[in-house]
Amino acid sequence: MAKPKIVIGNWKMNKDFEEAEDLITKIEEELADYQLQTEVVLCPPAVYAELVTDHASLEDSRFYAGLQNVSEFPNGAYTGEISAEMLASMDVDFCIVGHSERRKFFGETDEIVLKKMHRLLDNQIVPVMCCGETLEERKAGKHFEVVGKQIEATICTLKPEELERTMIAYEPIWAIGTGETATPAQAQEMLAFIRSLIEKKFGTELAVYTYILYGGSCNAKNALELFSQPDVDGGLIGGASLKPEDFIKIIEAAETVIKDN
Ligand code: PEP
Repeated sequence: MAKPKIVIGNWKMNKDFEEAEDLITKIEEELADYQLQTEVVLCPPAVYAELVTDHASLEDSRFYAGLQNVSEFPNGAYTGEISAEMLASMDVDFCIVGHSERRKFFGETDEIVLKKMHRLLDNQIVPVMCCGETLEERKAGKHFEVVGKQIEATICTLKPEELERTMIAYEPIWAIGTGETATPAQAQEMLAFIRSLIEKKFGTELAVYTYILYGGSCNAKNALELFSQPDVDGGLIGGASLKPEDFIKIIEAAETVIKDN
């Protein structure tokens, strides 16, 4: 049987409380009709964590609870921060780290990203580590070098048993929120490259097992073709995850690919 896909919705800093409740309820209702093989993860703003953890803890829940960021520090005097211990105590299962918006606006370096990954792993939460190049870097033909460095500095420093509990999302920065998607061939080429780095360091079995997702203007129209690429294990979805109809279509695309394989 084909490897199940993973579809993660990153709401970013959107929605007021009522809208967030409404969005989760709609997604839950829509998914109730499905016997899903795809794993769905919802990552709202942290202030709404309980909305997703409440739903995700129900026996017939169709999704897992995720968040978008975590502190690099353990509990203590870090005003305004949210620790991995806190996420764990709320039964958060997944957490995005190193999103390009955090790298750009909040100065997150690979070193900080790695600290956050360890905080999450130590608290049994799956880090979804984002990597990707800028448009300038791609135009200069440096995309493999840039992504390779991000992977080497983070993923390749893990122990095999830590990598087993970690996911990667390749998100070319020029495709995030721009409506410009990487072509399926570009996505496949980069994901295969990332997998080859993992294979070199950890061996074939773990490389095949590791979840590598594509993110960047993935939508209801292009998801099927992207998810059909052999190395694309699913998607990290921003804008389209805020629209229940579109998000469901993306999940349907993942299901179609699993069933056809
Ligand atoms: C993201 O925020 O991770 C993302 C991929 O956004 P979008 O789908 O809107 O490009």
